[in-house]
Amino acid sequence: MNRILIAEDEPRIVSFLEKGLRANGYTTTTATNADEVISMTLNDSFDLLLLDLGLPGKDGLTVLEELRGQGATVAIIILTARDEINDKVAGLEGGADDYLTKPFRFEELLARIRLRMRNQQRTTIKEEIELSVGEVILNLRTRRVEWKNKDIELSAREFILLETLIRHRGQVMSREQLLDRVWGYDYDPGSNIVDVYVGYLRKKLSSDLIETVRGMGYRLRG
Ligand code: CA
Repeated sequence: MNRILIAEDEPRIVSFLEKGLRANGYTTTTATNADEVISMTLNDSFDLLLLDLGLPGKDGLTVLEELRGQGATVAIIILTARDEINDKVAGLEGGADDYLTKPFRFEELLARIRLRMRNQQRTTIKEEIELSVGEVILNLRTRRVEWKNKDIELSAREFILLETLIRHRGQVMSREQLLDRVWGYDYDPGSNIVDVYVGYLRKKLSSDLIETVRGMGYRLRG
């Protein structure tokens, strides 16, 4: 359950998706126009299709209809620009399983992909509710954070940054990786926002929770 077809014509988004998905153990193939997407989906066995609605060749919803009309059962997640918002509803009715509005966070996409893959497998998997490291506990459902049994107020961004670091505990995360995962690909890569937010987390939690690895990035201890 790990073959994904990326149907997207914007090279920057393609490389963002390929990089992230491969790093998470998926095998990816890319199609950049509507006809390619249709023939590849029908002639190969992908577990999931990420479908950009604005592809050259045919309208994305037509692609969707053709695929379902010809019996494709692959899970489909639509990637759509904000101004195509009306298409989203039509997209779900036309046979997509889910959709995401661009720009999106990679972690968000990954969560949806995992959910789809699990549904495809028809297995019952207990929903992940809490993440913890040392004395920090993140409740993913209520978005509450506890540290040493006290509630800590974090902004949405701080929460996602901490969540990302916890999910990769012990690993060095570069500023670029953190920008990608927490702020999305639309962020200026030269920005120092990661450092600023790491500073916020250190102040609100513990100053030695997040280690600076010189010239490389950050690592959560634990
Ligand atoms: Ca496009």
